Amino acid sequence: MKSSTQQAIEITKANESKIGQVDFENLTFGNIFTDHMFVCDFIDGKWQTPKITPYAPLTLDPSARVFHYGQAVFEGMKAYKDDNGDTFLFRPDENFKRINKSAARLAMPEFPENYFFDGLTELLKLDNEWIKPGFGNSLYIRPFVIATQAGVSASEANEYKFMIICSPAQAYYSGDVSVLVAEKFSRSANGGIGYAKAAGNYAAQFYPTNLAKKEGYQQVIWTDADTHEYMEEAGTMNVFFRVNDTLLTAPTSDRILDGITRKSLIDIAKKEGVSVDVRPVKVSEIVAAAKDGSLKEIFGAGTAAVISPVKAFGYQGNHYELEKQENSFASLFKTALMNIQYNKAEDPFNWRH
Ligand code: PMP
Repeated sequence: MKSSTQQAIEITKANESKIGQVDFENLTFGNIFTDHMFVCDFIDGKWQTPKITPYAPLTLDPSARVFHYGQAVFEGMKAYKDDNGDTFLFRPDENFKRINKSAARLAMPEFPENYFFDGLTELLKLDNEWIKPGFGNSLYIRPFVIATQAGVSASEANEYKFMIICSPAQAYYSGDVSVLVAEKFSRSANGGIGYAKAAGNYAAQFYPTNLAKKEGYQQVIWTDADTHEYMEEAGTMNVFFRVNDTLLTAPTSDRILDGITRKSLIDIAKKEGVSVDVRPVKVSEIVAAAKDGSLKEIFGAGTAAVISPVKAFGYQGNHYELEKQENSFASLFKTALMNIQYNKAEDPFNWRH
């Protein structure tokens, strides 16, 4: 059945929902997708009628530019449901701005704001049953844009597909992780695309991360490409260091993603009266702090896990263990942030949507 909404989204509903086949108690992250997807094509210099259709594979020309030159950007955000069954997004305007910033860096067209928000709203209405209430449950939302124009000439495409797909997610606790500080590899370069959520940034991380895994670490702390003397990001998260009672994190740059969790935590920490130093963080000062006991915590911050505590790090063949903290900043700030996301606390920053 086809119908049009006021937003002129063409909606084709799935005949049957797959939700009955899903074991919501045992979800692995990002493997199951909801009944519908949002699609909008960029053709002839403009975005065409947006559509919501049943979730299904795509048909693309094998010469589509995305397969050859990597014009692909994406976002990661979540929808949360409170105990009354109301659905919330967390700072979605930031995701919207960031996907267009990423797209601009890859010479891709901007996506219109009303299409983004109307598309999200309609999709979340249709697939609302997939958002389970309960602290930690969420619907992971993946907007992305790919270059679909056929032909392998090495230039930007003139046809694109903007899509949104959604995957139910559970609270997950990966356990505290061990990380290896990068001494040779980097995930991004000066003047490069590190600040964009571009697919290629992630492809570049897998190989060095696999090498780190062989040494017994789960993730890499990325250092600056020039000197490898400064801590920049941890895996696919921004990274914080607690030295005594001060939080340190690197300023964003063209090599570092402007994470929404990162900037929210900085605001929460400041509001809690914790001193936050946003400045370049030297590997040597963190090693010295680990040695003299002033390094209390390291944690990654990002949408998927919120906060991921680090229990140890490796650098120059040495292994540094962190002592477990009572009342850690990691757990304090994680709870504070999630309370806002799940509508369990005041939202002094107006982040809930
Ligand atoms: N850095 C990188 C490289 C990431 O991929 C992510 C995940 N989007 C983050 C940081 C955290 O960003 P956010 O808090 O917006 O999810």
